[in-house]
Amino acid sequence: MGTRLRDIIEDIGGGIPDGRAFKAVQTGGPSGGCIPEAHLDTPVDYDSLKTLGTMMGSGGMIIMDDTSSMVDVARYFMEFCMTESCGKCIPCRAGTFQMHELLSRIAKSQGTRADLALLEELCEVVQATSLCGLGQTAPNPVLSTLRYFREEYEEKLAGG
Ligand code: SF4
Repeated sequence: MGTRLRDIIEDIGGGIPDGRAFKAVQTGGPSGGCIPEAHLDTPVDYDSLKTLGTMMGSGGMIIMDDTSSMVDVARYFMEFCMTESCGKCIPCRAGTFQMHELLSRIAKSQGTRADLALLEELCEVVQATSLCGLGQTAPNPVLSTLRYFREEYEEKLAGG
């Protein structure tokens, strides 16, 4: 606690292998957010991570290099949350499924600007209305990648 993300990644973890560049660190497990290079000097604590749009969660970290597509990353974690949803409440049960559909479409360069707007709207609704922490945090990977890597979504929209 209190150690900078940069120190954990570069010193303790040994940095990015094979001469690749750092792109993002995802903290907190599948429903955590992705943090870009600009925030690597942030100390790891509950409040700081929350401010960046992520969380402590399980304490896990996934480090991504510059070969990672952040739209694919968001789709991958949404698939996990969709599968883990217990189905008790509609926002999470239907919302994770629909968000996964939209992310898959955008990842295949078949999504429209309206799909992207709907995805953002769904993130807010699912976050605000789901019954438990799984649904409330499931949009985090999408919201954080939209916050820090929005250009990758824009590039993937149908028609460029
Ligand atoms: S938010 Fe929780 S209670 Fe609702 S469907 Fe998801 S896992 Fe179940």
